Amino acid sequence: MKASPRRLGPATLAIHSQQHQDPLGSPHVPLYDTTTFRFPSTADLLEVTEGRRRGPFYTRYGLNPTIQALEDTLAALESAEAALAFASGMAAISSTLLAHGRAGVACAADIYGGTQALVMGQLPMLGIPTQLLPNMEAATVEAALRSGARVLLIESPTNPTLQVLDIARLAEQAHEHDALLVVDNTFASPINQQPLNLGADLVVHSATKYLGGHSDLTAGSVMGAAHLLEPIGSWRQGLGSVLAPATAALLSRSLRTLPLRIARHNDNALALAEALQHHPAIRRVLYPGLPSHPQHELARQQMQGFGGMLGLEIRGDRQTATAVADRLELFALAPSLGGAESLVTQPCTTSHANLSANERRERGISDSLLRLSVGLEDSADLLHDLEQALDGLQGNGQQGIDA
Ligand code: PLP
Repeated sequence: MKASPRRLGPATLAIHSQQHQDPLGSPHVPLYDTTTFRFPSTADLLEVTEGRRRGPFYTRYGLNPTIQALEDTLAALESAEAALAFASGMAAISSTLLAHGRAGVACAADIYGGTQALVMGQLPMLGIPTQLLPNMEAATVEAALRSGARVLLIESPTNPTLQVLDIARLAEQAHEHDALLVVDNTFASPINQQPLNLGADLVVHSATKYLGGHSDLTAGSVMGAAHLLEPIGSWRQGLGSVLAPATAALLSRSLRTLPLRIARHNDNALALAEALQHHPAIRRVLYPGLPSHPQHELARQQMQGFGGMLGLEIRGDRQTATAVADRLELFALAPSLGGAESLVTQPCTTSHANLSANERRERGISDSLLRLSVGLEDSADLLHDLEQALDGLQGNGQQGIDA
């Protein structure tokens, strides 16, 4: 009798999940930079078009071995039945909402600005009822679901305040109303958090970030049960938003080192958070891995690591924080995250510049908040860079100008 299959670990899954066997023995699926595939007969072609075989067929449909191999790995990493690869994170999110959210979408207010623009600006143009939830307390979520929302869309940890939301509780609540919980897992990555195992229905990613990991590709993905992905794939086909095979091959290569990279991001961010939490020029360090974080216990329960994103509230005003950002040398001032190199942004000047000062305050986004994407460099060098930027403030006599 065959023993029941062992559940493989994430590092093994990142390397061994591709189903396609290369006929020439390549250890990974090579790049099929091909738009179409020739069939020996009509009977053989019908095997694919009538769904008895998985392709290859036509690249825009996603039926290309390089794209499918990537999707095998993406699905395995999120413990999902299947995955779909998209040309960007926004392509993945928009197709997901068009497929499942036409009756109504309720979206957490603490969400990526591009997602908010889609949900609150563009979907209503198509007649889709949408709402932005000011908080995710049970009563607020209940009211949204009672009013007809069929998709509840969240991120956890949130951007940029790194709040942790209770995924299992929100999934339960959504299911009581026959709604789906969709989790944007970009910040955590599947190595640190697997929302499907906590009860979520679909996971979306900007693969541009940690999954790609080198700031050199733009991609997105959706993972979940095959029957939920089917209508999303149909939108992908209709909108033509599949990932290009060359980018799929690059992303597959990135995924082989994802567990290693994430472990390093986690270690570096925790080291900086611990070292800076008592720095006199810093009012508050926002990091779910610190015991002082308001949802630290929840983060410990639902995450395997706390990620590479870190918030620093500088003691002082908006200009003080800008001065720190501008003085950093290793941290590049750039609006993205998840790459090998460390980045810094000041949300009030970038991702959340379109909110009024009042709206930012209501969401807990201080004007002196800096968001760090902690990279893979030596943490001692990153700490030194931050200290020289903060100490420079003291030298300028700016420290202590509390706004
Ligand atoms: N989700 C999150 C959490 C993001 O930060 C971003 C982009 O910054 C997106 C989605 C959109 O991803 P993309 O830029 O790949 O379309």
